[in-house]
Amino acid sequence: MGRLIKKNVAGIRILGFSLAGEETVIAAPEFNVCFDVGRAPREIISVDNICISHGHMDHAAGIAYYLSQRNFVGNAPGRIIIHRSLAQAVQRLMDVWAEIEGHPSSGEICGVEHLEDVQLLRGAKPRRGLIVRPFNVNHAAGALGYTLIEKRHKLKAEFAGKSGPQLVELKKKGVTIEKQIETPLITFTGDTALGRFLDLDFVQNSKVVLVECTFFDPEHRTRAVAGRHIHVDDLPKVFEAIGEGHIVLTHLTRRTDLRTAKSILAKLLSPNDLARTSFLMDRTSLSAGELPSAGASPSAGAGFSAEELRSPQESRPPQELPSA
Ligand SMILES: [Zn+2]
Ligand SMILES: [Zn+2]
Repeated sequence: MGRLIKKNVAGIRILGFSLAGEETVIAAPEFNVCFDVGRAPREIISVDNICISHGHMDHAAGIAYYLSQRNFVGNAPGRIIIHRSLAQAVQRLMDVWAEIEGHPSSGEICGVEHLEDVQLLRGAKPRRGLIVRPFNVNHAAGALGYTLIEKRHKLKAEFAGKSGPQLVELKKKGVTIEKQIETPLITFTGDTALGRFLDLDFVQNSKVVLVECTFFDPEHRTRAVAGRHIHVDDLPKVFEAIGEGHIVLTHLTRRTDLRTAKSILAKLLSPNDLARTSFLMDRTSLSAGELPSAGASPSAGAGFSAEELRSPQESRPPQELPSA
């Protein structure tokens, strides 16, 4: 088993790893997009579009290695999407590496800001119909979340009965016969405390929302506020904003045992909300997209087995792991 965790959430394949302070990298290979680069694990080198949430080392350390490996294995130059205020520093980093290595690694550093859509690339070519939309979050300077959005053209209802030639005729006359439909597929919040991004409709309507939840200990509330991270007590507000999408929790610390985290969530959330929740780092759970739909009780959903929900206190005692 590789180090990265494979999941299928609401029919979307996700491959990633996320521990606070250590490494965060989450790819959706079918869409050729990766959120943060972590330490640039081998499995994500072939992904053409990397969206960096912010400059902290656990999310961004692998930028130079990713771009260099793309050259080394003969892929088209990679592309880093990052807040405009950080793009120049990343370019300088690549310049310094060129000096150290004695040759440059080609790659595109694409600076973006809040709500500035970027069309994804396939190799060096634009990939029609798929964009990422960056949005401001509440963490370090230049911190962004991203939503992957599918854009399609659809015939307007009033032209549904027309024949092909009639539609061509209308188009020639300059009539707009299509409207654009946006389907938000995946949102990645990066690191953030609660913030106004939860009011954005494309975030609220995403099929899958990868949300950081760094702290689970009641005593860590002040640390969450100081570091601008989400504490488990903030989660009900997240669920309220995101009406129906599947929520995948990321960026736990090594101090938090998954069983403990699950039992805390089981007390905090409704059965319906539990059923649409999983932990990225949970290797044992069925992912939400793989659940049998008929007859499945909501409490048996996502990362939570019925047994775990019945008797969290009887579970194996939490294992204390070394801190990051
Ligand atoms: Zn982090
Ligand atoms: Zn951070």
